[in-house]
Amino acid sequence: MARMLIRGGRVLDPASELDARADVLIEDGRVAAVGPDLDVRGAEVVEATGCWVAPGFIDLHTHLREPGQEYKEDLGSGGRAAVAGGFTSIACMANTDPVNDDPSVTEYILNRAKSDSPARVYPIAAATMGLQGEVMTEMSALREAGAVAFSDDGKTISDAGVMRRVLEYSTLVGMPVVVHAEDCSLRGAGVVNEGPVSTRLGLPGNPCLAEDILVARDLMLTRLTGARLHVAHISSAGAVDLVRRARETGLSVTAEVTPHHLTLTDEASLGYDTNTKMAPPLRSAADVAACRKALAEGVIDVIATDHAPHAVHEKEVEFTAAPPGVLGFETAYGVVMDLVRENELTPLELVRRMSTNALRIVDIPGGSLAVGSPGDVAVLDPERRWTYDPAKGYSKSRNSPWAGHELTGRVVATVVDGRLVYHCDRGVLVP
Ligand SMILES: [Zn+2]
Repeated sequence: MARMLIRGGRVLDPASELDARADVLIEDGRVAAVGPDLDVRGAEVVEATGCWVAPGFIDLHTHLREPGQEYKEDLGSGGRAAVAGGFTSIACMANTDPVNDDPSVTEYILNRAKSDSPARVYPIAAATMGLQGEVMTEMSALREAGAVAFSDDGKTISDAGVMRRVLEYSTLVGMPVVVHAEDCSLRGAGVVNEGPVSTRLGLPGNPCLAEDILVARDLMLTRLTGARLHVAHISSAGAVDLVRRARETGLSVTAEVTPHHLTLTDEASLGYDTNTKMAPPLRSAADVAACRKALAEGVIDVIATDHAPHAVHEKEVEFTAAPPGVLGFETAYGVVMDLVRENELTPLELVRRMSTNALRIVDIPGGSLAVGSPGDVAVLDPERRWTYDPAKGYSKSRNSPWAGHELTGRVVATVVDGRLVYHCDRGVLVP
């Protein structure tokens, strides 16, 4: 029997409200016991003294670029970057080439991930064919193939009638619809948040209203259809307020926020660094504060990275021409530790938002260290300082706003299915 003992850490299991010093024993890929001084005989030991021991992180919003753009990332490199960031399960968006709008693409991703990725991969299928916002995909066939949600992420379904039908059909297959909320006509050519910063930079602005109006529309359509809506990468105070009020009336809506929208403002773009360009854009300090408050209150359910690799030559162009998106996996924990240090989240509540709460949104295993749960674990050192160098990371790309930054909080080890797949001293350990 394969046994692993993660010894002497501070075990944080939101599913059982556990926050205590304990060992975690994993046998044959499942959590077998949690408690003090467990029997070590015959077990591979992972030392966790001084560390947090959490259920592996779950990232519901990633772009792994395979098939079609393997020069940016593939399921192997993306999976390795994920486990180096403590993520044991990742959901990948459908804007690949070809688009994941057909069961054959979903199956291809799952098969490649099985052989290449140390993290578990869950495809999110397109809601409309080719992400064109016109013709719905075959949702039940995509679900059968293994998709866990539907989204045209990267693009907005502009036609409200199409979005209504997408939401209606999603109720028949029992899966959530993830919305990338940006009204294209209001966004226009906007590349940074509309406000004093866009004026100073002389760049076209993308107003919060572009996000707010789409969230408002989709909340109304959700009320009409009884669907489950998940708002991707929420970034504006107005959109947060709309979600808060909708939840108060019992609407089935969830939301995610990225590490960058929690910690950076549009002022990060003042040097025209294209690694601060993303969609939606970095917002004002007031928007950041609203997102942090909503995350602490539980109005925003999860932190998702929106890991979006782009090649160096694609980002080394003028700001307006660069593709939006930044890397997310390897820096996420060190970045969001800011919320713990500022006493906005307890360690247990941070882990809940990085892992356990994802199960409110998609039907996947994980998010718990209860006996019988999958042996997916992140061992995290909250005090360890390190300097992030994307060139030494596992992603094929380097587009991070934190390149060269010192972060406090580092992933020490990651266990998937009872196997040590990453250790900070030994790197990714892929068989
Ligand atoms: Zn998006």
